[in-house]
Amino acid sequence: MCPLDTLDTLDTHTLDTSDAGASPRRAVFATAGHVDHGKTALIRALTGVDTDRLPEEKRRGITLELGFAELPGTPISFIDVPGHRRLVHAMIAGASGVDALVLAVAAGEGVMPQTREHLHVAALLGIRRVLVALTKAELVDDETLALAEADVREALSAVQLSAVSVHRTSARTGRGMEELRSAVVSLAETLPDPGRTARTLLPVDRVFNVQGAGVVVTGTLVHGRLRVGQPVRVLGRRGPRTGVCRGLEIHGRATAQADAPARVAVNIARLERDDLERGDIVSGEHAPCVSRRLDVSLQLLPGVTVKDDQPAVVHVGAARAAARLLMLGSGFAQLVLHEPLAALGGLAFVVRGFSPNREHGAVLGGGRILDADAPPLPRPRDTAGRSRRVHAVELCRDGRQDDAVLAMLDEAPRPVDGAALESRLGLEPGTIAEWSRRDALPGVVSVDAGSCWTTARGLERLAELATARVEAHQASAPHERGASLETIRSALAERCGRDAADAALHRALAGGRLRVEKGVLSTPEFAEREHAASDQAALAALAALERAALQGMGEDAFVASGTPLTVVRAALARLATSGRARRLGALWFAEGAIEEARVAIRAHFERGLPLSVADFKALCRVSRKQAIPLLEQLDREGTTLRDRSEQGRDIRLAGPLLRE
Ligand code: GDP
Ligand code: MG
Repeated sequence: MCPLDTLDTLDTHTLDTSDAGASPRRAVFATAGHVDHGKTALIRALTGVDTDRLPEEKRRGITLELGFAELPGTPISFIDVPGHRRLVHAMIAGASGVDALVLAVAAGEGVMPQTREHLHVAALLGIRRVLVALTKAELVDDETLALAEADVREALSAVQLSAVSVHRTSARTGRGMEELRSAVVSLAETLPDPGRTARTLLPVDRVFNVQGAGVVVTGTLVHGRLRVGQPVRVLGRRGPRTGVCRGLEIHGRATAQADAPARVAVNIARLERDDLERGDIVSGEHAPCVSRRLDVSLQLLPGVTVKDDQPAVVHVGAARAAARLLMLGSGFAQLVLHEPLAALGGLAFVVRGFSPNREHGAVLGGGRILDADAPPLPRPRDTAGRSRRVHAVELCRDGRQDDAVLAMLDEAPRPVDGAALESRLGLEPGTIAEWSRRDALPGVVSVDAGSCWTTARGLERLAELATARVEAHQASAPHERGASLETIRSALAERCGRDAADAALHRALAGGRLRVEKGVLSTPEFAEREHAASDQAALAALAALERAALQGMGEDAFVASGTPLTVVRAALARLATSGRARRLGALWFAEGAIEEARVAIRAHFERGLPLSVADFKALCRVSRKQAIPLLEQLDREGTTLRDRSEQGRDIRLAGPLLRE
């Protein structure tokens, strides 16, 4: 029977939010134990479901894929995992995010290698509740059962676990099954409330097509809520994809809504079978990170040693990726993944040794993701940088996330996106803004309309960067007045957003590290040096103009003497504004030279003579090139008066200035 045969009826569902939260807390149990120890038989005896549903599983009598079943009349799901050593990856996927384990140990064999390996994985994944079934009990005597029980208890305590209860069972005779069932039910009833979260997180462990419905994924909903009709975001190594949750089922029953923890099947509209794969994460509005770098707390199994930079395989939920393991202080590591995977701070992971056949690597250890999208590690030589990083991850491990946020913002080279940081650390969306409102993040400032965060130190670094850019510009273009404010501002904004760029520039200006004048930024030293330098250039230009007297000089004459045009222009502009020189047409004259022309003209008029252009040329020993602009200036200022009568063209008389 197809467990999803009801999917096509889903659009008749109406969403009912009134009973939100009213549904009983579901519980998810996973099996664990060595191959052939009776896990699948146990689940069949409890639930009536044969989870070995694949033809190959039937033929070989061994579980290859995860199997799923519900304990009739209860909200309890079982995930049946394979026990073969080559299928530990499937066990890890199945056990991730579950509430408890049912550990099957064949009474006649006792604890075997995969019994231990599964217990290690369980401990690393943070599963604390274990029910033990000593299986095939009808085949052995009481003494053997007692030995097996002692054996299991010892194996559990070796990984700091203890059994909730131990049951002597036989799937064949039904012995102990009723007890085991009640133990499962009472354990499920005591499970803690998972709490409300705005994050939806469903690691995908199976993907298939259902005729007429389209693509369906299954997985253990480990966080939050899924509802029919809601948009979903799928993340994984293939990048983000979006779809819509068209249908939801829990063990073959359609439902409008599912709350974590639950085994769910989701029919996703707008995506195809090939758009999805095992290891993807289905999320809602608040997406997890997709990352190649995980900072983690790492616990190694007893007797395991790892080398820095050792190759490994990392499992997070149903996803796995080849990685290098970089050691980061004791108890921490950075996992550098060969391909990205979707992850969230706080999720558990397992790392296995690398083997060319990646099914074979032994479990080395595991722990928790502390930063799901960590920046690259500081170089080993940067011991201060490294120890600051270790400190930040220690804060995460110790649950001091607010201090960790402070430390990470302080270290970040630019303002950090708040939503992304919340995913990195596994914080509830909106937490950083909330902490900031409560003054729990001293010195933290929001930029870019509240979407990004930085600290006073972060802004300081940006201010330093702005100053460095201005200095670099000054060095490469010493003849300019400084760097364009807009250019520096946009370069900074590209790096850190406009708000942060402006805040950093304000900081640099307020602190006196930069000054701004007419849209140009410069350092105070440069501005002074530039002042002094242009003073010098101005004096040199004035001396040249004075030497040229009424011959005047064009800009090109200065440039020909080796001074750059920009310097010449700046110097002449200074002379003009300070009243020491004047441009007439294409020529520059020292004010002193023009004054000499005035004196000569006054003497000329005192003799009662009019002044022709020829007279002026002779008087001042200049050619027409100088005479015309000079005379026009003298007319303008009133030293001369041009006679505009017909016969008097080209004749000048004493102007109003001289007649006063
Ligand atoms: P799994 O690999 O742990 O899932 O083990 P299975 O449930 O597939 O069982 C392995 C073999 O042990 C099968 O041949 C089962 O029929 C057999 N088996 C399972 N439970 C019992 C039991 O209680 N008594 C006996 N005699 N055999 C059992
Ligand atoms: Mg099995």
